[in-house]
Amino acid sequence: MILSKSIEEVLQTAKIEDVVREFVNLKRRGSNLIGLCPFHQEKTPSFNVSPSRNIYKCFGCGKGGDPANFLMEHEKLSFPEAIRWLADRYQIELEETQQSEEAREAQQQRDSLYILNQFAQEWYARQMWETDPGRSIALSYFKRRGFREDTIRAFGLGYAPQGRDTFTRAALEEGFPLEQLKALGLTTEKGYDFFRERVLFPIHHLSGKVAALAGRIMRKEAKAPKYINSKENEVYHKSKVLYGLWHARSAIRKADLCYLVEGYTDVISLHQSGIENTVASSGTSLTEGQTRLIGRFTPNLTILYDGDKAGIQAALRGLDIALEQNLNVKVVLLPEGEDPDSYLQRVGAQAFEDYLQEQARDFIFFKTEVLLEQSGGDPVRRAEVVREVVNSIGRIPDPIKRSVYLKTCARLLDFDEQLLVRELNQQVHKKLKDRHRQRERAAAPTETGTEQPEEPFAPQEAKPATGHSYQEKDIARILVCAGHLPYQDGEPTTVAEFLLSNIEETLNLFEVALYRHIAEVTLDRLKKKLPLSASFFLQHEDKAIRDFAISVQTSPHSYSENWEKRWDISLQTQKMPEHNFSKDSLLAMQRFKLKKVEQLCRENKDRVEALSKEDPEGELITYLHLQKKLLGIRNALAAELGTVVMR
Ligand SMILES: [Zn+2]
Repeated sequence: MILSKSIEEVLQTAKIEDVVREFVNLKRRGSNLIGLCPFHQEKTPSFNVSPSRNIYKCFGCGKGGDPANFLMEHEKLSFPEAIRWLADRYQIELEETQQSEEAREAQQQRDSLYILNQFAQEWYARQMWETDPGRSIALSYFKRRGFREDTIRAFGLGYAPQGRDTFTRAALEEGFPLEQLKALGLTTEKGYDFFRERVLFPIHHLSGKVAALAGRIMRKEAKAPKYINSKENEVYHKSKVLYGLWHARSAIRKADLCYLVEGYTDVISLHQSGIENTVASSGTSLTEGQTRLIGRFTPNLTILYDGDKAGIQAALRGLDIALEQNLNVKVVLLPEGEDPDSYLQRVGAQAFEDYLQEQARDFIFFKTEVLLEQSGGDPVRRAEVVREVVNSIGRIPDPIKRSVYLKTCARLLDFDEQLLVRELNQQVHKKLKDRHRQRERAAAPTETGTEQPEEPFAPQEAKPATGHSYQEKDIARILVCAGHLPYQDGEPTTVAEFLLSNIEETLNLFEVALYRHIAEVTLDRLKKKLPLSASFFLQHEDKAIRDFAISVQTSPHSYSENWEKRWDISLQTQKMPEHNFSKDSLLAMQRFKLKKVEQLCRENKDRVEALSKEDPEGELITYLHLQKKLLGIRNALAAELGTVVMR
């Protein structure tokens, strides 16, 4: 772990304009700098950098933050990775807590595996460029496919020569240990080269490091599989890597769209033609890890399939996983008999791109139409289609999107929308119930009698259905965004002081651990008379707090309670004025109190009911008085809030 004083030093030294300039062209305007936003498409600059406040802010898409946040957002780094990046840039030596012997060894092991992968990639590339068989077999093969030399170099392609152990001997001579060669799968158990007479495609991690190699066979008569990959190992999990993503990442972000194809050569071909926002799932069907990776750069995924029967069937399968990540999934069927590479070569880049744009079909509508056609009007099969389609829709986390889909699919299926809604609700409730049951099971003591470790703070999973979490989240949001601001203009009391002095004694009533934690952390800060600031939360050592701070600070929205109640899912929709925090904090505090008083009322009422049956101590009268008092408080609070009290 990096020591916090080192983190502070880095953050005090880092200049927002230096960091942003590495990625964005900036022009001076007054005391600020402006440029084209790297996070959304725009023609006139709305991306602002303020050197005096050391932050950036885009008035187009709302993204903003300090130098570390910029790197986390732009380069998709974790917080420690961003700190290391900045420390490198400003030549600051980081002090770290002693790693455990084991952790250090594991890190060294991973580092040395990457070094070996890098060596392998460079060695195989040299075999292609610098040897006769390399040039005549591999280089000429790539050139026949239409790849230019600069493309071949950019993708680090190479050639594994004939011979049992040419590479293995070269690596051993370089001093790499045999067990590492075997660990990466570059050398077989018997000590032979794993890749022989194949052209090689290196697969990169998002960090740009070589994770693995894939080899395509060159000899036609061979019985071996056409493609083989390095085996999975410590630095390569194929379900978490996408081929080409490292090269495609900024193009995907710029276009706000990712194309997914099947083959390595498809990716390279499309990149060379300027369609750089393209990746491949490298042989596996799309995994959750891969859709997450894509979702870090864009919510829009378009998948290219061959236009034959197999392609259509493939398009119907396995895409629900992308819906669950809230991606907007479209499919494009290529003309029959074509793959992306061949079709692109035949029609040229412009026509190819036009085709993609014209033919991209929304996945759910596509699925509905294909299944409907396959059902051939049979009413029983039609009912199955409805269930299938609703099942896909039910996986989309965003309720607004779901209702739009329901409407259109009802029309496509010629089905009453309300019936679809009912079917969907049944499925959603079943899922929630299952999840609830899973949580209960996880919370129960295990069979051996040992307690499960306490659940980590997790805002999304944090009991969305209790009804109180909204108030708690609102308080946490206000503390993070505005805790340091004056509660009233010109007064010394801050929003945090106002809020916490009003609810300090009820912090233990918070139901969601993360929000309580944020309140406690803030209170602790106030008691120690240390300053609060937005960056205090953005750089907090607890990742859950950092994540929460980033999520509420980068979007000026608040949560709509209605949606939350209706769908059990929190959703960011309502815009709110940025400088309305005193009214906001008052409301948040009152709402929180009202909820808690209502809860006390209910508990007391139960007690009164129980006592009214049997009351040996004569306590009933006390609790009746209490009930009256509680109701009075509740009504007063409700009146202040303008809420109609139902009972
Ligand atoms: Zn923007």
